[in-house]
Amino acid sequence: MLNIILFGPPGAGKGTQSEKLILKYKLVHLSTGDIFRKNIKGETALGQLAKSFMDSGQLVPDQVTISMLEQEVNKSPNAKGFIFDGFPRTTAQAEALDNLLKSKGTSITMMLALEVKEDELKKRLLLRGKESGRPDDQNPQVIQKRIDVYNNETAPVKNYYSAQKKYIGVKGLGLIEEIFNSLCDAIDIKLGLKKPAKKKVASKKIVAKKAPVKKAVKKVAKKTVKKVVKKADKRIVKKIVKKAVLKKVVKKVIKKVAKKAPVKKTSVKKATKKIVKKLAKKVVKPIQAKAVKKSTKKVVAKKKKK
Ligand code: AMP
Repeated sequence: MLNIILFGPPGAGKGTQSEKLILKYKLVHLSTGDIFRKNIKGETALGQLAKSFMDSGQLVPDQVTISMLEQEVNKSPNAKGFIFDGFPRTTAQAEALDNLLKSKGTSITMMLALEVKEDELKKRLLLRGKESGRPDDQNPQVIQKRIDVYNNETAPVKNYYSAQKKYIGVKGLGLIEEIFNSLCDAIDIKLGLKKPAKKKVASKKIVAKKAPVKKAVKKVAKKTVKKVVKKADKRIVKKIVKKAVLKKVVKKVIKKVAKKAPVKKTSVKKATKKIVKKLAKKVVKPIQAKAVKKSTKKVVAKKKKK
């Protein structure tokens, strides 16, 4: 069975994404919020009980929610799997869900969490309130309360599944289709249907060659700085050291080192900049000091003449 918890704060897009995921993976969608709303509409005893909690942005008590969810799971004995949307919202609910699935010889496959910042959530909820008429989405105070309840009571459920190595965070910002694709990628990787994408960081080879690059830069930079400084007019030494040397050294180092091993241009530039700056200070300072001494001597000599 494929049992997914779609996790995230109110307004993260769990409902929208669930609808798409159940079609693709042929799963049963269980949204505790939707079930409560149906009961409120149908004016059942459960609906009456849940209403006051929902209207004030609080959680419906665990006992009520857990037994309702158990009944819903039992209604689909032949399901290929479930998407739990809005459940579990407390650690007690997570434990109850684990026990329930265990008794059926199955377990949670993964927790997919939609990560969205608070500002964006509030905007989305207010908009949904206008469009859908959901009372708990129309009142900014109730929205804030639900976000606070999420942070205090629900967010810790993340740790519960992280400890089981089942938590996967997915960026919940962007186009619905983009987010859906990220969720599908995560599921397919977990199911072994897809290989994880390689990270875009420097390869091991390049990282391994960074130290020799630094050495090479130092060597070439030392020579070139001295050469250029000797030739250059003292007043423009600084400029030359900064610009000309840097260009020359980078070119030379890339020629020398890059042939032997793959080296990133940017890493050579960075290394060169640092080293040349240091060297430039060493070379330029004494020249400047000499110049200052000379001009001071001249001034003193002039004064003496007077
Ligand atoms: P939702 O549609 O998931 O945003 O849920 C709407 C409201 O239903 C929540 O603010 C809670 O009052 C209640 N609710 C939904 N799911 C749960 C749950 N797992 N535990 C407790 N209360 C819930």
